[in-house]
Amino acid sequence: MDSATPSDSASAVPAFRGGTPPVRPDIAALAPYVPGEQPQGGRWIKLNTNENPYAPSPAVSEAIQQAASGRSLARYPDPLATSFRTKAAELLGVEPDWILCGNGSDDVLTILVRSFVGQGESLRMPYPSYILYRTLAGIQGARCHEVTFAADWSLGTSFTAARDGLRLVVVPNPNSPSGTVLPKAWLLEAAKELPCPLVIDEAYADFAETNCIDLVRQCEKVIVTRSLSKSYALAGLRFGFAVARPEIIAQLTKVKDSYNCDALSVAAATAAIADTSWLATNRSQIIATRRRLEAALASLGFRVQPSHANFVWCTHPEASHRGIYEALKERGILIRWMNFPHWGDGLRITVGTDEEIDAFLAPLTEILGRLSAS
Ligand SMILES: *Cc1c(COP(=O)(O)O)cnc(C)c1O
Repeated sequence: MDSATPSDSASAVPAFRGGTPPVRPDIAALAPYVPGEQPQGGRWIKLNTNENPYAPSPAVSEAIQQAASGRSLARYPDPLATSFRTKAAELLGVEPDWILCGNGSDDVLTILVRSFVGQGESLRMPYPSYILYRTLAGIQGARCHEVTFAADWSLGTSFTAARDGLRLVVVPNPNSPSGTVLPKAWLLEAAKELPCPLVIDEAYADFAETNCIDLVRQCEKVIVTRSLSKSYALAGLRFGFAVARPEIIAQLTKVKDSYNCDALSVAAATAAIADTSWLATNRSQIIATRRRLEAALASLGFRVQPSHANFVWCTHPEASHRGIYEALKERGILIRWMNFPHWGDGLRITVGTDEEIDAFLAPLTEILGRLSAS
């Protein structure tokens, strides 16, 4: 027997006798993934979900207009997003068949977990990091093996140790919420030691000094994922991709929806990555504002984790993080208060424009004065 028999599944899910039809027990037990607040309407200063505060390259809307003209949308899109893969391959120094596109990098991560991790098997990730990984494992009926970061945001040998049922390891680099990076040489050694693939989630790599694309050539177990949501200012578009050996990409392609990327997003994403000077300018601006934000937070008494991303993680030795978050929200400013069970809490602040950061720092200074006086 190689698959569950009808009687197996009947024992897991109670017979349906009317009322709300039962979903799989794995799904019923799942805590839903809660993304950062996305208020619709109102005038908020949004520093909570790591969106880019600037408009994307003007080439993006031109490409969308062109892709929407005439009868183009009457046809199904290119299932392999060939225009994007060709351009991205050229820029990254790989071949197009090393690239898989997705409806945001969350879609790519979903495809990876579905492809590698079966029911009852394990997905390993660091803690604290991106909470979505846990949800993806849960949907799959898989286990999570979370390895806690050391105080200096490094990972010990338990991160690379073999373990029964371990099928995939994922690590965001730079990490969220810390903005820290693991050394590239360490990641290569980790991939070599692991008994399964290592996914390096590079959603924020464009804001860092280095990235791990070349490790894909050096080790067949390395898979890198990228997103256009942050560094290309296209979170609303939904486009991301994976870079891996062609043998892996061919397997992942079987799992994805045939048309997981629509014609408008493929055209827009291709135009966005082709505009390398837009990326360079945006990146320097974000990094300059990040340095200002880090210095200002430190002068207000925060412990600031030096960041390699477009957000800053900080903690305050006295003031309540939740209190700060709530007081700012009352003033129309959203930042992220994050509380990690058994670990602790802190504040993650997205690097906005200089004006937005000033509009955040002024009330923050006042709130801290009030919180410490009371
Ligand atoms: C934002 C983010 C993503 C998701 O990116 P999308 O392309 O918008 O789906 C993936 N990983 C990490 C660590 C992120 O912070």
